[in-house]
Amino acid sequence: MTVPRAQRLDNARARLTRLGIDALLVGASPDLQYLTGHNPPPLERLTLLVLPATGEASLVVPALEAPMAEAHLDGLGVELKVWQETQDPVALVRQALDVAGASAGTLAVADQLWAAFLLRIQAALPEATFTHGSPVLRALRVVKDAGEVAALAAAGAAIDRVTARLDSWIRPGRSEREIAADLDRAIRDAGHEETSFVIVGSGPNSASPHHHPGDRRLAPGDAVVVDIGGRLDGYCSDTTRTVVVGEPDPEFTRMYEVLLAAQEAGCAAVKPGVTAQAVDAACREVITRAGYGEYFIHRTGHGIGLETHEDPYLVEGNQEVLEPGMAFSVEPGIYIPGRFGARIEDILVCTDDGGRRLNNTPRALRVLA
Ligand code: ZN
Ligand code: ZN
Ligand code: ZN
Repeated sequence: MTVPRAQRLDNARARLTRLGIDALLVGASPDLQYLTGHNPPPLERLTLLVLPATGEASLVVPALEAPMAEAHLDGLGVELKVWQETQDPVALVRQALDVAGASAGTLAVADQLWAAFLLRIQAALPEATFTHGSPVLRALRVVKDAGEVAALAAAGAAIDRVTARLDSWIRPGRSEREIAADLDRAIRDAGHEETSFVIVGSGPNSASPHHHPGDRRLAPGDAVVVDIGGRLDGYCSDTTRTVVVGEPDPEFTRMYEVLLAAQEAGCAAVKPGVTAQAVDAACREVITRAGYGEYFIHRTGHGIGLETHEDPYLVEGNQEVLEPGMAFSVEPGIYIPGRFGARIEDILVCTDDGGRRLNNTPRALRVLA
């Protein structure tokens, strides 16, 4: 079941109290969307949720976005504070904190509040102490509830409908850019409300993990890394499949087999109680043992939810323990500069006894004619 937003606000308040923080400030961001449902574009007009540990919460919004904000506040117990175009919104923020008795207290600021806003807020509240908001918000967002898992699963199924049909768009002679344009449309046709990103890296470009699709035309024998994602009901999809057009280089085929085994090992390592870094190690071990360790140049994965990249990160040094409801990618890659690269990526949700993959299209090397 999806936790109602009023409950999320109460959970945030409980954490504020536990951490000895007087109020939380949240600008236009996925954090605001998580807490209130309101998801305005992050632009130059200030939107700010002021959530005191005790007392009434306020949402400071520009007049032109007030109707949109109001639609989300029903039953949340959040007071709408609308500022007109020539008014100073920071004065409304100060007022809300004064009423809550928090303007000389400790204020936690959500990670994605623009510096331009924060500096003005700090100037208006010389007595306050400012600290990171992530200790409050991160703990709430990192474990997905059943409704969020269902949304991620729907997004995963939608993106799978695209990767299942890669042969419709990928063939020798077509450019990365042409393929990317088709994939963008296909991602939306598959049910996403928007495309988040499209990576198509062919031939030597497949060795550049975040390659921007360009004018290079596919040639026979090319490896093609396709990493795509979109947003469905606010939640993100993100999957990678690597295919070849025409007969692959035998060395590429060997490398791909190693990668496939590594991705499998990473997914098999997922269960409650293991650390994030242990999943990275499980993947990396297979690749290192096969002699490709130096070519696996990024972490194994990232959390996913309202954002494509969020906590937890599956990276060496992260000793955070996996819990049921955490969602993240397992996406090892091997990249030989100037030659070829490959990546396989699925989103998994940690369950009570293992990991559930939300991407399920075949992973064995596909040779497209
Ligand atoms: Zn990436
Ligand atoms: Zn990813
Ligand atoms: Zn990806």
